[in-house]
Amino acid sequence: MRCDMRVDLKHIRENPGGVLPFEYEMDLSGIEKSAPNPVKVSGRIVNRAGVLLLDMTIGTDLSLVCDRCAMPINRDKSVRYEAVIAESVEDEEIDDIIVCGEDYLELDGFAADAFILGLDSKNLCREDCKGLCQICGNDLNESECGCVTDDIDPRLEKLKQLLK
Ligand SMILES: [Zn+2]
Ligand SMILES: [Zn+2]
Repeated sequence: MRCDMRVDLKHIRENPGGVLPFEYEMDLSGIEKSAPNPVKVSGRIVNRAGVLLLDMTIGTDLSLVCDRCAMPINRDKSVRYEAVIAESVEDEEIDDIIVCGEDYLELDGFAADAFILGLDSKNLCREDCKGLCQICGNDLNESECGCVTDDIDPRLEKLKQLLK
């Protein structure tokens, strides 16, 4: 990764009510092919009554391809991630907890994980994309190719055979 983001926890831990803003860019192109552009990470760590709360937004312009028609799509994606930063695990039931007893916290791994987890599993160029013809590969959004797709019910298929 291009830039390791380390935040200094020492001072914010000693400063109830304190706010530590951060902003940087990281490079995820090596691990996520839909994110060739710099990924912006911005957020802050707040010391609320001695508890450190992390709140960050991770975003970039994704280069995707439509799952149905394979058309390239550029789409802004941003993922919000919130967590408690604790020095030790007191309650293992809490989901978003970062355990860090050190004076510094490396944010990259958390930001990268949160972003990749937050990516959509399905990407369509548009909600009603008709996709490609399974027979000739024609883009059905652009034109009808006239191919007869034979995806009929197998029971009807039997009937068709009988009628021949
Ligand atoms: Zn499409
Ligand atoms: Zn066709």
